[in-house]
Amino acid sequence: MPQTTEITRRSFIQSLSSTALTIGALGQPSAFAADVAPGKRKLGIALVGLGYYSKDLLGPGLLKTENCYLAGIVTGTPAKEKAWMDEYGIPQKNVYNYENFDQIADNKDIDVVYIVLPNNMHHEFTIRAAKAGKHVICEKPMAMNAAESVEMIEACKAAGVSLSIGYRMRYEPHTLEIEKYARESTYGAIRFVTVEAGFRMSRPTDHWKGKAALGGGALMDMGPYPIQAARYAVGVEPIAVTAQQLDSTPPAFQDVDETITFQLEFPNGVFAQCMTTFAGNVNTLKISAAKGNYGLEPFSGYSGISGFLPKGEKLSFPESHQMARQMDEMCKAFAEGRPCRTPGEEGLRDMIIIDAIRESVKNGGKRILL
Ligand code: NAD
Repeated sequence: MPQTTEITRRSFIQSLSSTALTIGALGQPSAFAADVAPGKRKLGIALVGLGYYSKDLLGPGLLKTENCYLAGIVTGTPAKEKAWMDEYGIPQKNVYNYENFDQIADNKDIDVVYIVLPNNMHHEFTIRAAKAGKHVICEKPMAMNAAESVEMIEACKAAGVSLSIGYRMRYEPHTLEIEKYARESTYGAIRFVTVEAGFRMSRPTDHWKGKAALGGGALMDMGPYPIQAARYAVGVEPIAVTAQQLDSTPPAFQDVDETITFQLEFPNGVFAQCMTTFAGNVNTLKISAAKGNYGLEPFSGYSGISGFLPKGEKLSFPESHQMARQMDEMCKAFAEGRPCRTPGEEGLRDMIIIDAIRESVKNGGKRILL
């Protein structure tokens, strides 16, 4: 008999009271939206955490955005401040550290706070940003677990601000096309999906991605990609998951998982075979449907997304800056007071699955997700 998780996806989502699947707080224009009509002015974003992703991808992306710009920074490393201020024309008054961060509430230049910190800090800073009255974009994975995710959604709802998860692929044209094939059954019924996401971890072992307490490990780091991909490629929600940890011998990491495989079961016998790893470079999404196979490889790279279709045709869209596109679309939704494509509930769904994967790895057996 399959073991049933005590806290299921349904009970979590139901626990969100009126939040429902499209965030209630997003459903009606906020006071903020009333005076920030789209096109009237760009929204000011403050990046919290100026590590790799902010420096190499989000900052440069914010030089290309039309609906938002980099208005402020929040950093625990004063030595980084000057370079960022010079590069992006940020005034000193828009520079914060983790201690005085809450004063951002009084800063009218900042409309949106974007959390780009180690995963164990997402919960705290999302709630602090919400209490400061700012819309929030939080990087993936949303939090350490589903319980934290619920608190983040509730905090944003209570503050009347929007919460969006940094799922850049959900704004990317090839990915949108894969979603459409599922929605429209373009290639007939989907039978199964295989999806793998990983890279050879070369960062020093004392980096937070190697520490469980800070939210490290391949599942936390890469898991959102195959979980998201399986969900959007099939187009319905999974009902169960079984998982296995398959690390190197001797283990490459002392404190976190190196490789996890998991099988997501969907209604009508459809399944997804998924993998996350720090042991090698893999990035493939393949869908097997009644009229043939199609997919993307890579499916979640920062650029160069490329697709194949059943008769050997290529699926190809012009390259665009993924993060610029993501932030532009999110900020347009914020300004219009409507839900974006990736609200907190999307992150919560994935965190419930990650929790179930962890339980299955630890105790064995299938976890029911309904
Ligand atoms: P990073 O280690 O390069 O940067 C983390 C930043 O947090 C650094 O500036 C560091 O100084 C700061 N920090 C504050 N407190 C810290 C602490 N206690 N320990 C360690 N660092 C601390 O990490 P990153 O790769 O930029 O990842 C940051 C977030 O962005 C993570 O949630 C990650 O999952 C996410 N991310 C998302 C994508 C994507 O494609 N959506 C890509 C990369 C990273």
